[in-house]
Amino acid sequence: MTPPAIVILGAGALATARRVQALYAGAQVHGLQGRVEADVTYAELGAHLCELYARGTPIVALCAAGIVIRCVAPLLSNKGTEPPVLAVAEDGSAVVPLLGGLAGVNLMAREIAAALAVPPSITTSGELRFGTCVLNPPEGYALADLAQGKRFVSDLLAGESTRIEGEAPWLDNAQLPRSNSARLAIRVTPRAWDGRTDELVIHPRSVVAALTGSGSGSGAQIAGRVREALNTQGLATLSLAALLASSERMTDPALAEAAASLNVPLRFAQTRAGDGEPPGNPLHAALRIPYETLHDDADAGIALALAPLAIDPASVGRARGRLTVIGLGPGSADLMVPAARTALDQATDILGYDTYVKMAGPLHADQRVHGTDNREEMQRARHAFELASAGRSVVMVSSGDPGVFAMAAAVLEALDGAENAGWAAVELSIVPGVSAAMATAAQAGAPLGHDFCMLSLSDNLKPWTIIETRLRHAAEADLVMAFYNPISRARPWQLDKALDIVREYRAAATKVVLGRDVGRPGGTLRSTTLGELRSSDVDMRTMVIVGSSTTRGVARGDGQSGEWVYTPRWYE
Ligand code: SAH
Repeated sequence: MTPPAIVILGAGALATARRVQALYAGAQVHGLQGRVEADVTYAELGAHLCELYARGTPIVALCAAGIVIRCVAPLLSNKGTEPPVLAVAEDGSAVVPLLGGLAGVNLMAREIAAALAVPPSITTSGELRFGTCVLNPPEGYALADLAQGKRFVSDLLAGESTRIEGEAPWLDNAQLPRSNSARLAIRVTPRAWDGRTDELVIHPRSVVAALTGSGSGSGAQIAGRVREALNTQGLATLSLAALLASSERMTDPALAEAAASLNVPLRFAQTRAGDGEPPGNPLHAALRIPYETLHDDADAGIALALAPLAIDPASVGRARGRLTVIGLGPGSADLMVPAARTALDQATDILGYDTYVKMAGPLHADQRVHGTDNREEMQRARHAFELASAGRSVVMVSSGDPGVFAMAAAVLEALDGAENAGWAAVELSIVPGVSAAMATAAQAGAPLGHDFCMLSLSDNLKPWTIIETRLRHAAEADLVMAFYNPISRARPWQLDKALDIVREYRAAATKVVLGRDVGRPGGTLRSTTLGELRSSDVDMRTMVIVGSSTTRGVARGDGQSGEWVYTPRWYE
């Protein structure tokens, strides 16, 4: 489940919010900007709730139910896909499930209410009567038809009883009116529903479709062939637990499309193929449970395996490994791009420098963290590929942007020199972030408003002479310069040397901006001039932006002291 967003309006709700947060790994508290310090800040409640709702994020709002209803009202058209939405009283005295009955809102209400030691305000009649939502079977099972389900539950509410056919362990403790001679039946079966109105059909996801042979065609064609095979066998598409293929086809995009179209995970297993022979049937290697092969159509290249119970797709063969290199932005959660948050939420393994891994939190309890103080970046990059090529979902974290003096280049270098062919099959992506120069510039105004360059003053990975040459050229070209890694205990003299070079070309009055720990607690911003700047004003957590000949200041008009620094878009 996606962790819920716990949304609060003020500090009065924070204590209750933290108690709810403790129930859900990865959940974050979202607080109204300027009113309360939380994990994530938002500017306007209505827009924020709509955005969360539209993304399908479960919402626990610690405010009046009416406010929540009014905020998401414009989006309430599609009942099928809505996330759970709950209103919780600020003091924790009431838990009201509002929306998302089919997404488990009542279950969440029960969990939260139990943690807050109050009764949940459940209003769903079927749920109240039977103690469970019959239409919301657990993971691994799917309801065949919602409209029929509703009809069925209203028949039960009208006083009818039901038989249960098949294995439905989650209904064992439900207070359902049961009778073996009942007209109505809850049927748990992988077979397709035939439209009978006296049945509630629930499909266990107990079928694996394997692609045999070398296969061909687009994703839509492959998905079509799988649907056809299921149809031929009288099996429901919703009974499908996973699509399985030979590991040799891991990088084939058509397979990913087919799995997405069938809405199931894509898994891989090794198959033995003779010289020049197409790969064989991967079912045997992938399934470690008893199953029956129902369909083995060599022409279509599809075999179906049916297990007696729902299959956990994670137990079928292995996934294609994933490595996502993300940038956290300068520090605060609201300057991290949503794609980075999503990658973090989905990761099984997280790698990076300890400080950054801490900044990436909160993480789920079952996520493996490989934090390290180790400065050896290539070693870390190789470690990431080793994990990903074994099927893990790995996220490598950098601060700022991962492509700016950070891990993305190291990861690509590791791939470039790779001897292990499995590394190339890893699904690699790089998610950008707000780099320190951008974050500092935004606070200062717009010093990067015209041509600029980014330079790392660290001579760890390049000779100092190269740095000097670049500084000279950049200074001569009148580029604004953003200095990364300006100074450190191991590199004490380099910054002074760099400033001496720049001073040969630029006036002492040239604007300089210093951003330290920008976007982090205790962050500061200073503006000074090239003449006044001393290397003692700077440390390794500082971003130094040296203006060009045109960079200037303008008084802040918002009642704040100091000035905006900007570089005009033109030259005179
Ligand atoms: N990938 C990072 C840069 C890593 S190099 C990015 O895109 O921001 C590390 C240098 O970046 C530090 O020495 C400092 O100069 C700068 N830096 C990183 N985070 C910063 C922050 N929050 N405030 C100011 N400077 C920062």
